[in-house]
Amino acid sequence: MSRPLIAYIDIAAMQHNLSVVRKEAPRSSIWAVVKANGYGHGLERCARAFIEADGYALTEIEAAVHLRDLGYKKPILLLEGFFSEHELPVIAHYDLEFAVHSEEQIAMLESKVGAPRLKVHLKMNTGMNRLGFKPDQYRAAYDRLKALQSVQSISLMTHMANAEIAAHPQLAVAEQMRRFEEGAKGMDEPRSLSNSATLLLHPEIFSNWVRPGIMLYGGTPGGKTAEAFGVKPAMTLTSELIQILDIDKGEAIGYGSQYVAPHPMRIGVVACGYADGYPRSAPEGTPILVDGIRTRLVGRVSMDMITVDLTSIPDAHFGSAIVLWGDGLPIDEVAEAAGTVGYELMCALSLRPHIVER
Ligand SMILES: *Cc1c(COP(=O)(O)O)cnc(C)c1O
Repeated sequence: MSRPLIAYIDIAAMQHNLSVVRKEAPRSSIWAVVKANGYGHGLERCARAFIEADGYALTEIEAAVHLRDLGYKKPILLLEGFFSEHELPVIAHYDLEFAVHSEEQIAMLESKVGAPRLKVHLKMNTGMNRLGFKPDQYRAAYDRLKALQSVQSISLMTHMANAEIAAHPQLAVAEQMRRFEEGAKGMDEPRSLSNSATLLLHPEIFSNWVRPGIMLYGGTPGGKTAEAFGVKPAMTLTSELIQILDIDKGEAIGYGSQYVAPHPMRIGVVACGYADGYPRSAPEGTPILVDGIRTRLVGRVSMDMITVDLTSIPDAHFGSAIVLWGDGLPIDEVAEAAGTVGYELMCALSLRPHIVER
């Protein structure tokens, strides 16, 4: 036996979430986004769970090669493209598709002559102002790629900044689409435009290939709750109470003695801390389940432990079951309390919790 902190990964929930993507985007092919170790759920596990997807999309070439070595034959897309020309032989050898978003990348492609094998995804910057060619530079980039002998196919790609908001006052999805249509005028290659929020909330946008990430893991991209979108939590982080103590009014808890008991309290200590990926920024009041009953964090999160209020849970005992997030407690609620998003909590799960599939 060892420390009772377990992250359960629910393969059936992940399969269900993929089926929600199919239902919401029935005419699209699906890139299952498995970057960042499958949003913290484990790359290989995700590749298995999403075997019905049409391809995998990620950011790390090592992970892409690993999937090929494991025998996965489906298309694999590098969302951030390549970073140096040394990667191009690997990309060609392993038949990886990749985003092209910069002049520098095109120049590297032009400097190499190769068999017509490369499958490029030309990215347009439609207002997010991270990666991609601006609409008025897009045609020139497209023409340069078209002229390359090494390029087998081109796909058209952009990324939405605010798809979870109905009509963002600064940059609405409709405005990004207007820019996209303008920049891609006359190009009839397949398009990949939709992340989770876009495919869930903007069915009017057709993507030949959609790129869902967070919804596959049962998190919400925003706009509505994960439950309202019909997706189920893939990760449930659980632990146990390892100590219970009663404290007097006026006693403080934890580092910094920030929380001072306003009345006599019963406190539980949970084996989970920021070294496990629980956010240190989680404040007093962050929700947590003790034997299925919702209560709240009190005191500062420490490296290996957190402290919770058991005053209203008299039956709590040594070994009581704790849910940090997941089944019964949406990760997005915990994230919101901590001033972040479910994405970050998933990705930040450390190597320390035991992982158990169910
Ligand atoms: C991460 C990523 C996605 C997935 O986004 P979600 O909000 O998790 O659905 C889609 N496209 C690109 C380019 C990404 O980097």
